[in-house]
Amino acid sequence: MFNDKETFKQVFREKLIGNLGKPLEEASNADIYNTLGNMIRENAGKHWVETNQRFKADKGKQVYYFSMEFLIGRLLGNNLLNMGVLEVVREGLADLGFCLKDIEEEEADAGLGNGGLGRLAACFLDSLASLQYAGHGTGIRYKYGLFEQKIVDGYQVELPDYWLQKENVWEVRREDKQVEVKFWGHVDSYEKDGRLVFEHKDYEAVRAVPYDIPVIGADRRHVNTLRNWSAESITQPGRMFGSRGGSDYHKFLEYKRSVESISEFLYPDDSQYEGKLLRLKQQYFLCSAGLQSIIRTFDKLGLPYDTLPDKVGLHINDTHPTLVIPELMRILMDLKGMSWDEAWDITTRMVSYTNHTILSEALEKWPVTMVKELLPRIQLIIEEINARFCRELMDRYPGNQERISQMAIIYGDQVRMAHLAIVGSYSVNGVAALHTEILQKREMKLFDEYYPHRFNNKTNGITHRRWLLHANPPLTNLINEAIGTRWITHPQEMIGLIKYCEDSSFQEKVSGIKRQNKLRLAEFISSKHGEKVDPDSIFDVHVKRLHGYKRQLLNILHIIHLYNQIKANPSMDMVPRTFIFGAKAAPSYHLAKRTIKLINTVADVVNKDPDVKGKVRIFFLENYSVSLAEKIIPAADVSEQISTASKEASGTGNMKFMMNGALTIGTMDGANVEMHEMIGDDNMFLFGLRAEQVLDYYQYGGYYARNIYNEDSRLKEVLDQLVTPGPICCHTQEFDQIFHSLLDNNDEYFVLKDFASYVETHVEIDRAYRNQKDWLKKSIINIGHSGKFSSDNTISRYASEIWNISPVKF
Ligand SMILES: *Cc1c(COP(=O)(O)O)cnc(C)c1O
Repeated sequence: MFNDKETFKQVFREKLIGNLGKPLEEASNADIYNTLGNMIRENAGKHWVETNQRFKADKGKQVYYFSMEFLIGRLLGNNLLNMGVLEVVREGLADLGFCLKDIEEEEADAGLGNGGLGRLAACFLDSLASLQYAGHGTGIRYKYGLFEQKIVDGYQVELPDYWLQKENVWEVRREDKQVEVKFWGHVDSYEKDGRLVFEHKDYEAVRAVPYDIPVIGADRRHVNTLRNWSAESITQPGRMFGSRGGSDYHKFLEYKRSVESISEFLYPDDSQYEGKLLRLKQQYFLCSAGLQSIIRTFDKLGLPYDTLPDKVGLHINDTHPTLVIPELMRILMDLKGMSWDEAWDITTRMVSYTNHTILSEALEKWPVTMVKELLPRIQLIIEEINARFCRELMDRYPGNQERISQMAIIYGDQVRMAHLAIVGSYSVNGVAALHTEILQKREMKLFDEYYPHRFNNKTNGITHRRWLLHANPPLTNLINEAIGTRWITHPQEMIGLIKYCEDSSFQEKVSGIKRQNKLRLAEFISSKHGEKVDPDSIFDVHVKRLHGYKRQLLNILHIIHLYNQIKANPSMDMVPRTFIFGAKAAPSYHLAKRTIKLINTVADVVNKDPDVKGKVRIFFLENYSVSLAEKIIPAADVSEQISTASKEASGTGNMKFMMNGALTIGTMDGANVEMHEMIGDDNMFLFGLRAEQVLDYYQYGGYYARNIYNEDSRLKEVLDQLVTPGPICCHTQEFDQIFHSLLDNNDEYFVLKDFASYVETHVEIDRAYRNQKDWLKKSIINIGHSGKFSSDNTISRYASEIWNISPVKF
């Protein structure tokens, strides 16, 4: 494309003039961004076409990763990196008087996801393309991504994220690939040629139009597709209501509005189920549009349908796209004329499912009546799947009515989506060893017994290209200097760094890079908050969605305690700390929003207090997102991964911090357990209850939060400060709800129970940081082991152990 700076500059100038009709001198950063983005996409276009031709010639299996969320963030920097032109472009732009970092800031952060689950999907896309697998994303092109968070007077305020306001240079609208998705209506069945035929009538049709985004692999030549579907109205009057007809203009407008709402916005709930009709509509829209398009591609091959499972894999990211199962059954039976048994055999050889949570509030259960009204044919199919499954169970466990009702797909008036996903797929995976064990031994025990080979573990991962190469170039360069560049394509070889862990000169360099990154973040924070940030303090970072189980509350209660100690003894000896928070709360999650307010209130009190000057500062950075994460994580010394044990299925934030040299303070939860297995007690700071203990408390009781409050005077003091007039509680009753949840509702997440050991562990961190040589050694050991958590590793396992696919060679 352009292998040297001079060619780039020349091509770029011409493009700019052609694109904008203005000379370079008049171009704004936004102009530069648009031109550069379009140029890169066009360049990738050639490889995109070639990759698709390669897939056709190869005739191999293609995997489609269905996900309601793809939290991809910005693409420019990563695409430049994967195209291998990042440095050429950076230098070329500098010559032209522009700074690439500023140009990157022009791109809207594609926030089409809530948090970990959506970010995982994005990391997987990067690894699939970089490892040259035929693996594509299927998603929704939400007009509004996750809300933009502002902090006003310490409170979270949500603003709509109209990310498409700026032109999206990465997507290509593919009108020729559109399909129709049908809602409502009713189903007629009748016999024809000796078989029962189902006909969907009086439906409302929606036009699904795909927008394709090229997913550029690290070798630049392999380009997969992220196909995001947009809902649009059918414009020929009379067509949209199917056989019902009608062309009333008023009705049309109403219809148009309701159709467009399907891909209007992303539901802002993380780990929380919302049984809203519109959400169900979104889910079916994704599944039906995605599948129809996949089947159409398969049909072009002219192969018999029993080969479909050899050519297509369908992976569902959590239960949100579970409707691919009945939808595929519908297509195979109603449109392709297959029998139930043929269709079921094919379907269950195609679908694999990732479970992301055991939180009961996150398990999807749709009301039967809602599914029946919105998707009448789909509901009939789900009922039949359930009836046949229950019959199997009755054969296997005669008379064991209790077991059958525990396992049934439809129970009472609800469809249990996780059960449908398990029954209708050939593989069910958890996302970390501990999580998978809890699934198999506890939550889904009955299913694991019934399907002994179905459950497996695939520990999550993160793409080291975004989270290390792109986010932390100085550290990347240092690793290259030390062990060469092979680790970039074989991240597990980062383990070679271990031999430098005690090397003073290497330690010095690691320390210098961390300081450089901290200075950069300090400057960013100062520019937002107008306060000085001490780069010599410990940067102690807690960034992730706000949720009870993630225990931001434990963190802030500890900070209040620390504050109390300093007030009692202003000359207390401690290494200065800067506590950094970032977290969005679901708009309807009141307790979470109160926690944000508490953090900001404490920040206000502490940051202003002359007694703690130079010791503790607290910053809540608003609008935590992928691009903000890329700024924060390389600058962290301490990574807070303090979820209630058993609750965080894996976590991926923990991995990003580890890869950037932060030390973890964490519970034995999710992937922290595997981190600990690699680096041991010496290189991370573990505390708190173990998963087994937490689960036993839930099962057998025996935990009394109030006893701890009464016995631990430090905690009593802190909690009382939330509800008695003073610097923290100046408005009346602001934090009563938090107090109440801890004491009257018996502290669902064991905040009080883990408080003492959390406090102790922070003292240990303070002590450890004073020995910089030893701290740096730990940091290097963390970096060295982090290659294991590259999503390249994770995806290779999905490929060989679940999907049975190999890289598509040139
Ligand atoms: C990685 C990431 C997450 C997930 O973080 P956890 O600590 O695993 O919950 C959430 N949001 C963003 C923007 C991320 O980059």
